[in-house]
Amino acid sequence: MKYPEVRNYMAGDYVDGDHDYLDVYNPADGTVISKVPLSSREDVDRAVAVAQAAFPAWSSLPIKERVQVFFRYRSLLERDIEELAALVTEENGKIYSEARAEVLKAMELTEFACSLPQIASGEVLEVSRGVECRIERFPLGVVASITPFNFPNMVPNWTIPNAIALGNCLILKPSEMVPLSAGKIAELLKEAGLPEGVLQVVHGGKDVVEAICDHSGIEAISFVGSTKIAKLVYRRGTANLKRVLALGGAKNHLIVMPDADTEMASSNIVASMSGCAGQRCMAASVMVAVSSTDHIIERLVEHAKSIVPGDNLGPVISAEARERIAGYVAEAQAKGAKILVDGRNPVVKGKEGGFWVGPTIVDGVTPDMRIAQEEVFGPVLVIIRATGLDDALAIENASPYGNAASVFTESGATARHVMERASAGMIGVNVGVPVPREPFSFGGWNESRFGVGDITGKGSIEFWTKSKKMTTKWNREHGINWMS
Ligand code: NAD
Repeated sequence: MKYPEVRNYMAGDYVDGDHDYLDVYNPADGTVISKVPLSSREDVDRAVAVAQAAFPAWSSLPIKERVQVFFRYRSLLERDIEELAALVTEENGKIYSEARAEVLKAMELTEFACSLPQIASGEVLEVSRGVECRIERFPLGVVASITPFNFPNMVPNWTIPNAIALGNCLILKPSEMVPLSAGKIAELLKEAGLPEGVLQVVHGGKDVVEAICDHSGIEAISFVGSTKIAKLVYRRGTANLKRVLALGGAKNHLIVMPDADTEMASSNIVASMSGCAGQRCMAASVMVAVSSTDHIIERLVEHAKSIVPGDNLGPVISAEARERIAGYVAEAQAKGAKILVDGRNPVVKGKEGGFWVGPTIVDGVTPDMRIAQEEVFGPVLVIIRATGLDDALAIENASPYGNAASVFTESGATARHVMERASAGMIGVNVGVPVPREPFSFGGWNESRFGVGDITGKGSIEFWTKSKKMTTKWNREHGINWMS
């Protein structure tokens, strides 16, 4: 094993425990690089107790002092970007430039947290003579963040800087498939001056997640992962009277109009469907081709064929994911769909043990096929033909998901029509991956998000704090009125 066994992190240090372990793979060659502990309810109890002990001191620091940690943390992310990106590549499989971009995004998220003293300040108004009403924000206490495999560095940084800068103590439960980046994040935060106990990392799977949902000492949970588990976490966490924001899976539709710029549409869509091996909740999944768009599809196919697994495309996360993806393609083919680019079973020399899937484009898909409805989560684009814009929008609107939707067109009127009518939380116009940059918040609609608010940016402030409304009277008049 290249790395020692992963350990939980509590009170500013790694801790040992008596656990069962799962193997951690390098998806590019299938080798076991580490082992991750399957922590227990007792580990969660311990993490909560440590966080509760740290909360009074941390939460009583002024926010301007708390964010100093994150100014330093941002510099450390920049200092160690090569090492952090290499770790992401190793445990997740994405190519180095994608892993580096992930860390750059983590830096941007941290910059936003550094601006919280300006953005999250309260409000005050003199509502009557000598009488002021004010709103101040207070942290919730101990909170938890449960994260998926596809962004081992960025997604934990969706929540850690904001939740902690706002005064909470946090328990991170990373994906058991990519546990290595979390330890490095904890180490950098310690180096940045985060006091002991403000961040705990508890590794594991279902048992840890259920213990988090059940623990009476945890006030709020943010979850990012598949819709199936998002629903479980949302139901269980809210049944235990916690605040929960659970982001789920996606099936993003990109509507392509005949007037779209051929080069922009084709290159952006291929980048969107194949980037990070299609394992992005913002990836292009369904291209809804409106009327005469064959010229764009021809170019799309050329772009897809220039993508080479092992060169400018990483593997998918596991052998199981590879089989699942191939299953969707085979089923669509059996039902009459036409494979324009077939990426199944590519051979990557020297890395034959890796979990490879090449870019795959499937045309002639109908909305009733499973590949058109379910999240495939691989470098696969399906094409559904539509006769007009309303037909295309009806196909998009019928999806139970609602993370992202895009339109490719040269017409402002068409673009506006789609911006208003697409049933998704994040919309792109001539953009393949419409991720809002900070300070705009990230969050979808429908079955891509359960709970209120967004996970990043300004939208996250409400989630990680509770407000107190205060009324004060400082005047020397003794009259009785409705403000008395
Ligand atoms: P996942 O749902 O399998 O796992 C997410 C987390 O849940 C992990 O920490 C995992 O340990 C835990 N978990 C898994 N099974 C569980 C169970 N039965 N009970 C309790 N906890 C359980 O997701 P994944 O495969 O790691 O990540 C990919 C998914 O995440 C995709 O669906 C993708 O679209 C989604 N995702 C969504 C967003 C978003 O912002 N909407 C962002 C990134 C990823």
